[in-house]
Amino acid sequence: MRDLLNYLFRPSKTSSDATRSAYFGSLKTTHVMLLISIIVCMVFMVLSFLDTSLYGATPVYHRICYVVLFVVSIVWFACVKYAIRDYESRYKVVYAMNGIMAVLIYTWAIGLAVINAIMRKELDTTIFMTVSLIVPLSVYLNPLEYIIIALVSNAGMVFLLYSAPTFGLEGNTIGFVNFAVFGVFQIAMGVTMLYTKYRLHEQLVTAAKQHSEIEMLNKAQNSFFSNMSHEIRTPINTIIGLNEMILREDVSDEVIEDAANIKAAGKLLLNLINDILDMSKFQSGRMQLLYAPYHTGDMLSDIVGMLWIRAKEKKLDFHIDVSPDIPAELVGDEVRVKQILINVLNNAIKYTKEGTVSLSVQSEIKEDKLCNMIYTVSDTGIGIKTEDIPYLFSAFKRVDENANRHIEGTGLGLSIVKQLVDLMGGKITVNSVYTKGSTFIIEIPQRVEREGRVGEYNFTKTNASKKSEYAPKFEAPEARILVVDDNEANLMVVSKLLRGTKVRIDTVTNGADALKKTLNIKYDVIFMDHLMPEMDGIECKRKIKDQTGGRCRDTHIVILTANADEENRALYAREGFDGYLPKPVSGDELENELYSYLPKELVHITGNRTDLAEETISWMQGNKKRRSVVITTESVADLPDEVLAKYGIEVLPHKVVTGEGIFKDGKEIETQGVLRYMEDPAHKVKPMGPTVKEAEDFFAKQLSNANNVIHISISSKVENSGYAPAMDAAKSFDNVFVFDSSHLSSGQGLLVIEACRLAEEGKSAEEIIKILGSLKNKIHTSFIVDNLDFLARAGQVSNGTANVVKSLMGRPVLRLKKGKMGLGMTYFGTRENAWRSYINSILSSGNIDRRILFVTYVGISRSEIAWIKTQIEKKMKFDEIHFVQASPAIAVNSGHGTFGLLYREKD
Ligand code: ADP
Repeated sequence: MRDLLNYLFRPSKTSSDATRSAYFGSLKTTHVMLLISIIVCMVFMVLSFLDTSLYGATPVYHRICYVVLFVVSIVWFACVKYAIRDYESRYKVVYAMNGIMAVLIYTWAIGLAVINAIMRKELDTTIFMTVSLIVPLSVYLNPLEYIIIALVSNAGMVFLLYSAPTFGLEGNTIGFVNFAVFGVFQIAMGVTMLYTKYRLHEQLVTAAKQHSEIEMLNKAQNSFFSNMSHEIRTPINTIIGLNEMILREDVSDEVIEDAANIKAAGKLLLNLINDILDMSKFQSGRMQLLYAPYHTGDMLSDIVGMLWIRAKEKKLDFHIDVSPDIPAELVGDEVRVKQILINVLNNAIKYTKEGTVSLSVQSEIKEDKLCNMIYTVSDTGIGIKTEDIPYLFSAFKRVDENANRHIEGTGLGLSIVKQLVDLMGGKITVNSVYTKGSTFIIEIPQRVEREGRVGEYNFTKTNASKKSEYAPKFEAPEARILVVDDNEANLMVVSKLLRGTKVRIDTVTNGADALKKTLNIKYDVIFMDHLMPEMDGIECKRKIKDQTGGRCRDTHIVILTANADEENRALYAREGFDGYLPKPVSGDELENELYSYLPKELVHITGNRTDLAEETISWMQGNKKRRSVVITTESVADLPDEVLAKYGIEVLPHKVVTGEGIFKDGKEIETQGVLRYMEDPAHKVKPMGPTVKEAEDFFAKQLSNANNVIHISISSKVENSGYAPAMDAAKSFDNVFVFDSSHLSSGQGLLVIEACRLAEEGKSAEEIIKILGSLKNKIHTSFIVDNLDFLARAGQVSNGTANVVKSLMGRPVLRLKKGKMGLGMTYFGTRENAWRSYINSILSSGNIDRRILFVTYVGISRSEIAWIKTQIEKKMKFDEIHFVQASPAIAVNSGHGTFGLLYREKD
């Protein structure tokens, strides 16, 4: 009932999706109803003009009224339509407007009936009837108002009809009883609408309830997973711990092998639990990051230390290449950053049979102490099929299952990695060539904690070999520690793992006993479990610290727990625990933690550790810095060698197909050779773009020293363009962007130069592409040719056109417009005159950027070049003029005696 009242007097409007979609459902109905009302009005209007209305010949004023009614219904519809354009903020207006309109129209209808009665002494209710039919349809949004209005107006109408004779009026053919029935019908209609709306409202309430139930279920699921994780970690702790003890013993090789397998299986199980826990957190939106300062070098050192042994076991080379200018201290979630890198590096090792796995680390400093850390993990492994790349980051999805059947994995790793990277505001991209290898590029924004670079960092890899010749890191026979845990097996594991240190260890299974012990004994360190019956670890710690007369009020207390997630970790930090050790814990971790809290005078270093560092080598950083963006193009871009060298531009060769074979542009065949070969009209020569495979290999190579590749291709609209294969090849690479230059030859080259300049300025790939997009319309590519014979031979113009131009002795200009090669002006007369006219016409434009001009030619002598130069200099001065011989693939289309002035417009 309260719901109903609430609903009647305060129309519900929540912003939940369910509510919104339900409202929009009802809006659709409103629309339909308003349209029906327009149609009804129109029918009445037409009927009134046809004189076949229900009541015989229609008086003129009725016709006027019906027209007005029709117009009003359209205006009404338009108003509602406008108001609901932003329904969220205007829905109250719609609501009120419908009510006001209903009142106005009813008043108007009754008013008309009365005026008509006064004028004609006859109570004609036609208009009222019409309105009564129309209005309810359009007040769907507010049935309550409709019921009230209909009730009042019908009662008025019944009263008028009933008392008409009293006022000396002639009654209408329809008597007041009819109206009373009509009124009841209207009210029934209103109630039905009201009921429908109420049902809708109920649905919304149910949806909201369901939403909150789902949230509760999510929470329950989360706590289930975190309990499960806790419960599984506890026995794994025992398994791994005791297993470590076996490995320390002097046992046979077979036992060692078995124990090593148990260790590996334990770790696997642990990773699985961690992954499932992370997934559940992401699904319920509860994954949180813990930000704290960390040392970049130490973090990387940890990762390398963990992974190089795996690479070594598989006989893979493991390269690490850290740029010395990365910040030494960052702020971020170190644990999660490590998790991301370990996962991706682990995959690289897992999916590589032979060759190299490498990690390269770089940073881009942004303003406001922000930096973008860029980690690149490359391998020479099995690679990923292009069609699988889109599914790589989907949860539970293992791609190329046939090839990977024998490689362990769940398909959760990369999905978690992606979600973590997204949560950190970074991005992860993949570039892979099937059967050749993959490169994952991970960008993570981090805050810079302090000025300072990591510099020449030496990574040491220590060999924690299978059978570790165990020796404790230190001995401390006078030290005394307490371990509190309700699980006896855990107590045993800790005691055994620390046995070698000769520390005196007391164990208790509950908080009360711990308090008793700490009252009388001064412990140097306490290891405390969290979840224990009656008194949990947090409470026990508080009590130990506050215990009157207690001897351990200043003792370091380390939480040793199977609660391994961030929330709990943050909780322990807030509660003031000195250290945190998640289970399963290794002997090494326990020793290290203990060592850092024991008073130094009690500790004797045994120095036996050095044997572990037997394999320690310094890993120097490579000085080859990966470039953020590298620009590449094709041989047909006709760039001079010095420009290619200056910007380090790599070129993907086009090819020339001849009767003697296929030759790579510029490398295996040169322009003069092609021209000579073509002198024989029987020789067929055709240019050909690179294949997808060639482009793929080319891009893969470029990505080995750059994070992004922008490949500027010849116009996609010219014959034999290299654009389509490059685009196909780029599908395997997230970081390769193919840009359609819409030009060829040095016109394409001009875009390449600008792109290189922008890359040097530090612009991102996206920014460069955007700028190039607007620049390409400002570049002019044209050539004057002796004739069209070569183009005709290449099948680019018809023989007829070529012959006509030739017979007229015309020298046509070929130019690129919107990416397409077309014919421009044709110059007649001697070659010299035609060339002069071409140069003059190009250079008479006032809009030329005078910084750079390309004169690109085919089959032109030195003296002719000198002549062209003089002509240009007479007309205009340029900072740089490059005379470039066009590549063979371009020359094939133009033949001897071709040159072009290629330039860009001023900005
Ligand atoms: P998994 O547990 O199967 O390794 P991931 O989510 O880590 O799950 O990876 C998903 C899939 O992506 C893997 O099954 C594998 O097919 C593919 N994959 C991941 N990394 C590489 C790589 N470096 N080389 C080849 N394939 C990879």
